[in-house]
Amino acid sequence: MEKVIVYTSSTCPHCKTAKKFLEQKKYEFIEKNVQTDPGASAELQALGAQGVPTFKIGEQVIVGFSPSAIEKALASKVMSCPSCQKKLAVPRGKGKIKITCPHCSHKFETES
Ligand SMILES: [Zn+2]
Repeated sequence: MEKVIVYTSSTCPHCKTAKKFLEQKKYEFIEKNVQTDPGASAELQALGAQGVPTFKIGEQVIVGFSPSAIEKALASKVMSCPSCQKKLAVPRGKGKIKITCPHCSHKFETES
């Protein structure tokens, strides 16, 4: 399973809730505190995210604590459409699956 990177600050109550959620679900995560770690703060800015908690799961970025969005991101991966090259989320670990690109309606098969 993809590791979760969670950007937090020392004072944000939602960050505590989010970490508790990740622990309860036994998701592997790396915490990066943007208040104590200047590198983490720069990474967060590079993602274009303004606040914490922000989650990075593979190439997917979730701003704000949303359990359903985190679970959805963990159950999928991002790939590029072979036709239009735009990014789309596809399910993970389901063997060979048929995908229809939401951008250009191109149909293709992929190993998930
Ligand atoms: Zn496409």
